[in-house]
This record gives sequence, structure tokens and C-alpha cells, in this order.
Amino acid sequence: MSKDKILLVDDDPGSIRLLGRILADVGDLRFATSGEDALGVAKEFLPDLMLLDAEMPGMSGFQLFDALRAVPALADVPVIFVTSHSEPEFEVAGFELGAADFIAKPVSAPLVLARVKTQLRAKHLSDELRRIAKIDALTGVANRRRFDESLEREWRRAHRKGDAIALLFIDVDHFKLFNDHHGHPAGDACLRSLAEAMAGACLRPADLVARYGGEEFAVLLPQTPRSGAEHVAHRLLDAVDALGIRHSASPSAGHVTVSVGISCYDTDSACWVDAASSESRFLADLGLRCSASDLVHAADRALYAAKRSGRAQAKFLDVADTDSAVAARDASPARRHRRA
Ligand code: GH3
Ligand code: MG
Ligand code: MG
Ligand code: MG
Repeated sequence: MSKDKILLVDDDPGSIRLLGRILADVGDLRFATSGEDALGVAKEFLPDLMLLDAEMPGMSGFQLFDALRAVPALADVPVIFVTSHSEPEFEVAGFELGAADFIAKPVSAPLVLARVKTQLRAKHLSDELRRIAKIDALTGVANRRRFDESLEREWRRAHRKGDAIALLFIDVDHFKLFNDHHGHPAGDACLRSLAEAMAGACLRPADLVARYGGEEFAVLLPQTPRSGAEHVAHRLLDAVDALGIRHSASPSAGHVTVSVGISCYDTDSACWVDAASSESRFLADLGLRCSASDLVHAADRALYAAKRSGRAQAKFLDVADTDSAVAARDASPARRHRRA
């Protein structure tokens, strides 16, 4: 496990040296001797805990504390104030602001160690809760909440940067029959294996495999044009085939299969916004651009088309083609080379 990162801030170098000696074995330490410097160091270092001198010239410890709370990546970092103020009103005001704890100057080494370790334990616990809150308990992949957040964020990023983005919707074929014949525990084990196989089929760190609900999964593929998305979809179908999970009741195959709906926003989309073209930006400003929910809607319709065409296959629908007159087409890996 990596060491906890602790940032010590005090305008008195003597105090910093003393705290540094006390905490040398507890974590990875960094130092700053002013509030202004500390803010810069904290943004880059992303500490797990900060010890702040309350009284500093320039930006005081409390002002620095406010500034930290305004930075999303630092807003939850616990802060212990180190202060020569020992009046209860001072500490109460600090706790009301959100301080984690107080240490009185001159500092006592055992007390510093005990308070720092307590705060680090609490930090680990809250990090773990935050992590669990975004994971699907059955399969261990991202849950719906994490998917929704990522989709919104990645969709905005794609527009800002002029990147493509793709989405796969995956639904297990005849899964109700699987449960009916093999039992629910086997169904759950099947979902776990499928999730693992899908995660293995997505190779880039930014790819996100999520359980969308029940026996439906979603794969978000940032910076991926349609050719890449179709490629991933076929790799995913192959990975599920390779599992060879027996499905005695399936009308279409002897083993478990999935159907995949692919949607994509890329330079071939009618609603593509070319950041360099004023005409394109003008149309986008008129509201003629696609949205993240269009991407979801298109993937959903493509999935439905894959089901109707016999399951165990992938279908594609462009993000701009959510109007019902346009039908999803077969996903063809051959298209990979078309625009090369
Ligand atoms: P289709 O090929 O049309 O998708 O058929 P299907 O039976 O998979 O479709 P449907 O959506 O009607 O049924 C989904 C079934 O998935 C319902 C339920 O039995 C099963 N299911 C959903 N969530 C879970 C789960 O967490 N565990 C298990 N074991 N089964 C689940
Ligand atoms: Mg001071
Ligand atoms: Mg379903
Ligand atoms: Mg199904």
C-alpha cells in the first residue's frame, strides 16, 4: 500500500522541522511555509491529510482552509489546525468550519502521532466508502451511478476537445430462461463471469464497463470512433463466446450469449461539432447538437435491433439517427479500414 501523503504548513521553519521529525515514519511528507505556497503544493501533491498553522502572515490558516474547500480535489482533505490558541471558542469555531482536529503548540509528539493516525484511519474509511458507493456489489464493475456520472463528464469532454465517443449496451440473451433452468445463484455467477470477460475485452484505461441494471451492461468508450467501437463490440462477443457458459434452455445457442447495441458520436455524425468551423459552432449554438441521452437512446435502439435480428450479435446506430425512421445496421469490423 502506498504511503499516506501529509502536507505540513507553518511559517516557522522550526515548527515544520519538529513536526517533520515526529511524522517521518507515518507518511510521505511535504512542506510549505505560507498559505499561498501551500495551495499550490496541495493541488499538485493531493495530500491525504494537512496540518495547518492557524497563525501565519499573509494568508492565514483559516483563509487557506477556505481556499482548499473551494478546490473540488481538495475539498474533502482533512485538516488539523496547529495553534497556540487554546480557548474553547476558537476550537468550536474551527470545528464549525469543518476542521478535523486541533493540536496545541507547543506540540507533544505522542499527541501529534495519535491525532494524525486517527485522522488517517478516518480518511481511509471514507475513501473506501466513496469507492464502494460506485461499485456494483455483485459483479465488481462500476455501478449505474458511476456510469451516469462518467457519461455526462466524458460527453462534455468529447465536445470540448473535439473527440469521438462511443457507447455499447449489452443485454444477456434469454437470461430469464437461464435463471429458470439453472437457478438464480448460477445466474448471479454467470453475471460475474460476463462482467469479468467484458472488462477483459476493454483494453484502454479510460474504457468504463458498468452494470446498467439487472442483466444489462454498458461500456463507455471515450475517444473512440465507430470503427473502434465495432471492434470492441466484436471482441466482447468473442470473449463471451469463449466463456462457453452452458445454457441448456436457450432457443438460440447451447451457451450464454449477449446482444450488443453500439452508438457513436464522431466526425461521421450529422450533429458533429467541428470546433474549428464557425458554421458548425453556429448550428451547435442553435441547439442542433446531440446530447448524451441521444447516445444512450441510440445504443438502446441498436440493442433492440440486435435482439430482433436473432441475438448474439451487434448492431450500430449513429447518435444523430435516433429518429425512428432510421434503422440500426449490422456492426461490421471490416469498416475499420474504410477511412484509414
Ligand atoms: P432477452 O434475450 O430478450 O434479453 O431475454 P431475457 O430473458 O434476458 O430478457 P428479460 O429482460 O425479459 O429478462 C431479464 C431477466 O434477467 C430477468 C431476471 O430473471 C434476470 N435478472 C436480472 N437481474 C438479475 C440478477 O441480478 N441476478 C440474476 N440471477 N438474474 C437477474
Ligand atoms: Mg505561525
Ligand atoms: Mg434485459
Ligand atoms: Mg436479456
